[in-house]
Amino acid sequence: MKGRLAPSPTGNLHLGNAFTFLLAWLSAKAQGGALVLRLEDLDPQRSRMAFALGILEDLTWLGLTWDEGPALSPPAADSPFFPEKGDFGPYSQSSRLGRYAAVLDNFARQGLLYPCFCTRRELRFLPGAPHAGDEGAPYSGACRRLSSAERSARISSGASFALRLDTAWARERVRRDNPHIPETALFAWEDALRGPQTFVPENSGDDFALRRSDGVYAYQLAVTVDDAAMGVTEVVRGDDLLSSTPRQVLLLRLLGAPIPRYAHVPLLRNGQGERLAKRHPGFALRALRTSGLSPEKTVGLLARLAGLRQTQVPLPPAALVPGFSFRSLRNRVPVLDECSLRA
Ligand code: GLU
Repeated sequence: MKGRLAPSPTGNLHLGNAFTFLLAWLSAKAQGGALVLRLEDLDPQRSRMAFALGILEDLTWLGLTWDEGPALSPPAADSPFFPEKGDFGPYSQSSRLGRYAAVLDNFARQGLLYPCFCTRRELRFLPGAPHAGDEGAPYSGACRRLSSAERSARISSGASFALRLDTAWARERVRRDNPHIPETALFAWEDALRGPQTFVPENSGDDFALRRSDGVYAYQLAVTVDDAAMGVTEVVRGDDLLSSTPRQVLLLRLLGAPIPRYAHVPLLRNGQGERLAKRHPGFALRALRTSGLSPEKTVGLLARLAGLRQTQVPLPPAALVPGFSFRSLRNRVPVLDECSLRA
C-alpha cells in the first residue's frame, strides 16, 4: 500500500491542507503502508522554492513524515534540485517533464490528441460553460472539428495551441483494449467516503487539456503519470478534486495502470462557511506556529474537526493511527471557528 501527499508549492500550507494531509498520512499508516511526498510544481509562474521548503518544514513540524520524496535539506547552491530519498524519483514534477512529454507523444501517435486554438476568453464565453477553474469547463469540441489542413495552417501561422484529449476516442480505445472488463467496472470507482462513483461523460470534462497553450503540462496528466509511475495505491485528497477523478481514471486506463483507491475528504471551512485557502493568511501553519500553537494542539484540533476524537486534546499524529477509518468523515462539514484555535 502506498499513499501520497501532493502539495503544490504555490503558497504556505494552511490548516485546511494540514487536515487533508493528516488524513492521508493516517490512512497510509493505519494500513502499514508507505507515503510519497511529491511536489506539484508544474506551473513555473506560480511555484516557488521557498514555498516548497516551507511545506516540507511545516509537515515535519506537524509530525507528518514521508518515506519517499524530497529530503528536508535545501538544494545545494549549485543545484536547483532537492536531495531525495526513494526509488521512484524525481519527486518534483518540474523534474519530470520528459515523462509527460513521452506520454503525450505516445497518445499523439494513437490519434488521441488534437490541437485547440481557443483562447481563454473564447472558452469562458462558451455557451453553457460553467465557471470552472484552471482545468477548464467541459469543452465544446470546437477545435476537434477542424480539418487537418486548417490545423496545419494555424500551426504554421504561429498560433499557440493547447493539446486536448479526444475523450470519446479515448474511451473507445480503453473499451477495445479491455474487452473482458464490463464498462461499468472500467469507468467506475468506489470512493472510501463518497461510495460508488460512476463515470458520467457529461461530468468528466469532455476533451480536457493535457498541455496548456503556454506549454505547461496539465495537472490531470502529470498527476496520473506520476501516481502510476510511483506505484501509488491510495489517493486521499480534498473533495474539490472529485470531478477530476473520472478524467484521471480514464488516463490511468489509457496507460494500462491500476486504479488506486480514492478517498475525497471534505474541505475545512471557516466560520463563514468558506473553504480555507491561501487568501486566509491567518490560518497558515507558519502564522499559527509563530503565535505559539504546538504541533500536538494542531493535531488535536484537526482530530476533533474530523470526528476522530470528541474532545480537543493535544496529541501526536501516531496516537490517531490505531483503528483509523474515514467513517467519521462521511457527511461531515468540518468548520473551524475562532474558538477552536484558542482552545
Ligand atoms: N497538487 C494538488 C493541490 O495542491 C493536489 C493534487 C492531488 O491530490 O491530486 O491541490
